[in-house]
Amino acid sequence: MRQPYSYGNSRKRVSPPVPVSDFAQSVKQQLDIVKVIEGYIRLRKAGANYVGLCPFHKEKTGSFNVSGVKQFFYCFGCQATGDMFTFVGRMENVSFPEAVRIVAQKAGIPLPKREFSSPEEAAEARQRGKLLDLHEAAAAWFEEQFRGPEGALAREYLAGRGMTPEGIRAFRIGYAPDGFGALRDRLSGMADEATLRASGLFSSKEQGDGTQGPIYDRFRKRVTFPICNESGRVIAFTARALESGEKAGPKYINSPETPLYHKGEVLFNLDKAKSAIRMAGYALLVEGQMDCISLFLRGIQHVIATSGTAFTEQQAAMLKRHTQNVVVNFDPDAAGANAAEKSIALLTEEGFNLKLVTLDGGLDPDRFIRERGVEAYTQAVLGARRQSDYLIERARQMFPGVAAEQKLKKVNYLLPHIRRIPHELMRLEFVRDASQKLEIDSAIMLKEMRQAALKRREHIEVRTTALTEVERVLLRAVAITGPEHEDARRTAMDAITRQSQWFEALATWPALQALAGRGSRDPMDVVEDAGQRALLAEALLGETEPPAAETVFGSIVSLQQRKIEADLRDVRAQIAEAERRGDFAELALLTQRKLELDRALRQLRASAPASR
Ligand SMILES: [Zn+2]
Repeated sequence: MRQPYSYGNSRKRVSPPVPVSDFAQSVKQQLDIVKVIEGYIRLRKAGANYVGLCPFHKEKTGSFNVSGVKQFFYCFGCQATGDMFTFVGRMENVSFPEAVRIVAQKAGIPLPKREFSSPEEAAEARQRGKLLDLHEAAAAWFEEQFRGPEGALAREYLAGRGMTPEGIRAFRIGYAPDGFGALRDRLSGMADEATLRASGLFSSKEQGDGTQGPIYDRFRKRVTFPICNESGRVIAFTARALESGEKAGPKYINSPETPLYHKGEVLFNLDKAKSAIRMAGYALLVEGQMDCISLFLRGIQHVIATSGTAFTEQQAAMLKRHTQNVVVNFDPDAAGANAAEKSIALLTEEGFNLKLVTLDGGLDPDRFIRERGVEAYTQAVLGARRQSDYLIERARQMFPGVAAEQKLKKVNYLLPHIRRIPHELMRLEFVRDASQKLEIDSAIMLKEMRQAALKRREHIEVRTTALTEVERVLLRAVAITGPEHEDARRTAMDAITRQSQWFEALATWPALQALAGRGSRDPMDVVEDAGQRALLAEALLGETEPPAAETVFGSIVSLQQRKIEADLRDVRAQIAEAERRGDFAELALLTQRKLELDRALRQLRASAPASR
C-alpha cells in the first residue's frame, strides 16, 4: 500500500490521486458527462449547468447538478459528487473499472484488448486499429507524393496561397496523384480487401449483379488534407481538386462515413487548437479548413473549423469541454450565412457565449489575413459583435424599410432566435435592443417579442447557502483555470499563501488551502473533505463567470479588515485584563499595539475598495 504523503507543512494529510487508466481518461475525453447521466435520469438546463432529481437520495426538488463545463456532478441534498464513472458506478453498483467498461460500451467506444466482452467487439477494435494504420500510411504516402515530381502543381498551388513548407508539414498536407491504383497497391499488403473497402480511401462501382466492383483510389489529382481526431490521429481526408471544370469533378471530395470517421463528431483542428483555446478563453470558429489552417499558421492557434456544415450537438459537446465562449467568423456569402445561422442557433441553445465577426470587404478569413495581415485580422476578431447585434443587423438587411409589413418580417425573423436564448434576462435585453434599433414601437409586436422572451422558463433558483459571498468569490478565483482569469487567480493565491492569517477563520479555509497548492490538478480532486468539497461544488456551480481581479481584491481587503477587527477585540480584552492586574508595562505595549491596529484599520477603510 502506498503511504499518504504530507502536504506542505500542514497537518492535513492528502493521499496521492488515484491513477486513472489511460483508457478511462480517453473515454472521459470523448464523452460528455451530461449525456452519460441523461442515460439514467432526466436533466434540464439551468443556466450553465443541468439539474435533475437526485438518484441517490429521495427528493421532490432537483438538487442534483451536473456541470458540463467542469464534467462533474454534485447533489446539494446528499453531497454525492464525482465524475461520469463515479455516477455510473453508483447507479449500477459496480467498481470503477466496471463503470468505465459500461460507459465505454454504451457509447460504442471499443475496449482495450483484454477487456473485450465478446469476439465481435474484439474484431471491431482490431478493425479500427487497422483503419488507423491505413490512414497513417495513406497520409505518409500523400506527403511523399507531394514532395515528389508529381506534386509540383500542388506545391505551386499551396505556395500561391501563402503556405510555407513548415505549415505544409504541420498539417501533413499531401498530394494524391492522378491514376486509379497507386495508393491501393501501396496499402494492399496491410489489410484484407474488406478492411480496405471500409477505410473509405477507395471507391468502387456497383456491378450489373449488384455486387461492388474492384476498388480504386478515391482521391486523384488532388491536394489532400488529413482530418484528425481529438488525439491527433488521421481518421479521414479532405481533398481539393487542382483543376476546375467538368472533368476535375467537385472542388472538394471528403472521406465517406466510416467506422473511424463520423463527420458530425469531428471538429477540424481541435487536436492542435485545444490548448490555445483554453489559453485564449475562447474558440474561433471558421467554416473552411483552408481558413482554419491559414489562421493557425499565422499564429492564431485557437481556431477550429466546421468543414462547411452546420454545427452538431456532438461537436458542441466536444467544444464545451474546452470553452463556452465562441467567436464565429463564417464566410459572408449567402450559403455561409445560412449555415452560420444554424450553427449559431445550436450554439446558443447549448449555452455558449457567442460573438460574430464580419470582415470588411466580404473577404473570407484566409484572404483577409493574407491581404491585410495578422494585426488587422486580430482587430476584426476583437471587434466581434454580440450575437444579438449581429442578428438585428441581419434582420435590417434582409427586410429593409420601415413599413409595418417589413417590421413584422423582422420581428418574425428574430422571434425564434430570442426564444432560443437560455437566459430570460438576456432575452429581454435582446428585445429591448431590437425594438430600439429596428424602431419597433408597435405595442403588438413588442408584446409578441416580450412573450417570446418570457415564455422560456427561467431556471435560476435561489437556495440557502452556507457560503458567504467572500468565500464564493475566493473559491471561484482559485479553482478557475484559464489565462484570461489569471489576474484573479494570482491575486487570490498570493494572498492565501502569504497572508494565511486573514483566511484561517473562514469555514472554507481547508478547501482554499488545498486549491492554492493544486498545481494543474482538477479542483474537485484536490479537496479531500466531503464537506469542503460540497462547498466548493456550490461555489463552482453557482455562476458561469469567474470573478474579476478587482472583486477578488475587494474580498481580500474585507477579510484583512475582519482580521484587524478581530485582533482589536483581542487587544481590548487584554488591555482590560492588564488594567485589572495593574500591569502597566504590559498595558503600554498593548496600547501601542491597539494604536497600530486602529491606524491600519483607518488606512484600510480609506484606501479600499475605492482605490482599485
Ligand atoms: Zn442527492
